[in-house]
Amino acid sequence: MRTEDAFGYALSSNQAWAGYKSHQNPDYFSKLASGQSPTILWLGCSDSRCPETTILGLQPGDVFVHRNIANIISPTDINTSAVIEYAVVHLKVKHVVLCGHSCCGGAVAALSDNRVGGILDMWLTPLRAVRNAHREELDAIVDQKERAIRIAELNVEAGINVLMANASIQEAIAERGLQVHGTLFDIGTGHMRDLGFGNGKGRHQNLRGMNDSASVVRGKHAMLVFGAGGAGEMLAL
Ligand SMILES: [Zn+2]
Repeated sequence: MRTEDAFGYALSSNQAWAGYKSHQNPDYFSKLASGQSPTILWLGCSDSRCPETTILGLQPGDVFVHRNIANIISPTDINTSAVIEYAVVHLKVKHVVLCGHSCCGGAVAALSDNRVGGILDMWLTPLRAVRNAHREELDAIVDQKERAIRIAELNVEAGINVLMANASIQEAIAERGLQVHGTLFDIGTGHMRDLGFGNGKGRHQNLRGMNDSASVVRGKHAMLVFGAGGAGEMLAL
């Protein structure tokens, strides 16, 4: 991206994208504007390298999203809680995906006792609590990148515990089989791993391929097929 006028470039890129989509399907945007019925709620990190719809190979309309620094799920955070409630109770998503990632700056900051400054230290408090609870295990990991990955995994586990205690999620699990998944995205490879947390555990080896049976995540404009053959296949509808 040209850094001298990044916003100007983004605006022109948007024009090109909108034109391309309209050319592909003249009804694309009018259908999008008619409403949304996403099947996935994505809770992830704000990191620019983790754009959920892009890395899932899905399309606008497929994923309802909340992202914050280091994908921290706090039960008293009204922002996260409002998104969860709207997605689960009103949109009735079928999957809640909490996704951490490698190379997370928030995770690295939480591994240190150095102050970041401003409101950020308060925000990172739950992650520092995770660090304190697993200090021995984390300190034993020599490689800094691996240590950051491990705390990111532990952070997802802590977040999943909060999600599984959420009243709206508990009701949706009981009433209609909502699935909650804990995952980790590897920025260095582009692949996402199912960490086996939540009630969707054991169903997916990873979100790219499955061993048992085929699974389809269907959006309004594309279909992502997870099959025994391994790699997911995206088909334009
Ligand atoms: Zn991050």
